[in-house]
Amino acid sequence: MREVRYEDIVQAVRSIAIKANYELPEDVVHAFERALKEEESEVGREVLSQILLNAKLAREEQMAYCQDTGVAVVFVDLGQDVHVVGGSLEDAINEGIRRAYTEGYLRASMVYDPVFERKNTKDNTPAIIHYRVVPGDRIRITFAPKGAGSENMSRLAMLKPADSWEGVKKFVLETVKLAGPNACPPLTVGVGIGGNFEYCALLAKRALLRPIGERSSDPVARRIEEELLEEINKLGLGPMGFGGTVTAVDVKVELYPCHIASLPVAVNIQCHASRHAEIEL
Ligand code: SF4
Repeated sequence: MREVRYEDIVQAVRSIAIKANYELPEDVVHAFERALKEEESEVGREVLSQILLNAKLAREEQMAYCQDTGVAVVFVDLGQDVHVVGGSLEDAINEGIRRAYTEGYLRASMVYDPVFERKNTKDNTPAIIHYRVVPGDRIRITFAPKGAGSENMSRLAMLKPADSWEGVKKFVLETVKLAGPNACPPLTVGVGIGGNFEYCALLAKRALLRPIGERSSDPVARRIEEELLEEINKLGLGPMGFGGTVTAVDVKVELYPCHIASLPVAVNIQCHASRHAEIEL
């Protein structure tokens, strides 16, 4: 059984949490560069130029791309032949987040009591961690901070099978329309279809991790991605909702089997601050 040290996990999480917040991934920057060439609205092009400048400055000056440095969402693919020594994996991840947010000058956005006191935890912990046990002896950690503007506009529906594809499409388009400028477009739209109530939300969130421009390997999901992207961009919301032809730079769809009487659909809206970074230990 391979061993991985607690402190190495802390340092790894610290580094990817800072990197993700400072440096927009290349595929996202390239998507905005393409959008700048394709956008038909002059205001839309101006917004895209500002977004690209912001990404450049954040990377060069090593500062947060957006003031909302988000909820710390962490995906862990844990090899079944790995043993963490010196502490628990969960504590190591939270300590890495704590150090990243305090030492990297990233805004702490988490509050203890979600309803009444809403007192800030001061270090952006606890992280929201999704584990998956996989074959092998490595630990792959992906960090994807999520701001409230776009997360708040995400929605889930337990449709009936009779609603069919038309019902799914209507729900996705309605969600993007309702999000409007609040979700800071251009968007990446993660769609989970199938599973059950909680699993389709996770599918939608995981879908956002695939690089922009990369189509699903599943032919049905691919067809849905292409159709939804076209329909979303016909809505005319445009960059930051000022009107235009680029409302979304991509749609990512994940499918999963579901109950004979259900058709769950989740839409996780991702704003232009589409931040993520990963590391393998
Ligand atoms: S929605 Fe995204 S871009 Fe807008 S403020 Fe929140 S994190 Fe920043």
